[in-house]
Amino acid sequence: MQDCIFCRIIRGELPATRIHEDNDAIVFMDIGPVVKGHLLVIPKEHYANLEETPAAVLAKLIALVQKIAAAQKKALRTDGVNIMQSNGRAAGQVVDHIHFHVIPRFLSDGHHWNWKAQKYADSGEMQALADKIKGILSGASSQQSG
Ligand code: AMP
Ligand code: ZN
Repeated sequence: MQDCIFCRIIRGELPATRIHEDNDAIVFMDIGPVVKGHLLVIPKEHYANLEETPAAVLAKLIALVQKIAAAQKKALRTDGVNIMQSNGRAAGQVVDHIHFHVIPRFLSDGHHWNWKAQKYADSGEMQALADKIKGILSGASSQQSG
């Protein structure tokens, strides 16, 4: 991907503060940390988002995320971690090269997610949405088995 900024970082055309590189992935500091020490874990191969990324690539990535979060915890003496992964503009995705955010958390960091829990009008509204998703899932599994 010629113009993708993360591909350009991988190729060394743009600077980044790297903390890890292997055959499949790199990890570097996010230049706009939500909390200082915020890292990005990305595959070397370009995939735009979760939907496009093969499950085998995702499996390696999430295992690396786990390892990186453990190193971050030990190094920065964190109290917690948020793993974030956004898909689509509506979800806040800005860079269309799949990435996992590894955001260190401290009891004193002062950060709060803008997480506003809503309420369903009634149990029927919730059940209708559940049924829609279940319908697609069972269709997909019968396609796989058939
Ligand atoms: P997202 O909103 O999930 O697409 O996240 C993109 C992230 O990439 C943001 O947190 C940015 O701060 C970060 N970012 C963008 N450009 C760079 C760069 N050149 N080096 C490091 N991080 C970057
Ligand atoms: Zn890319």
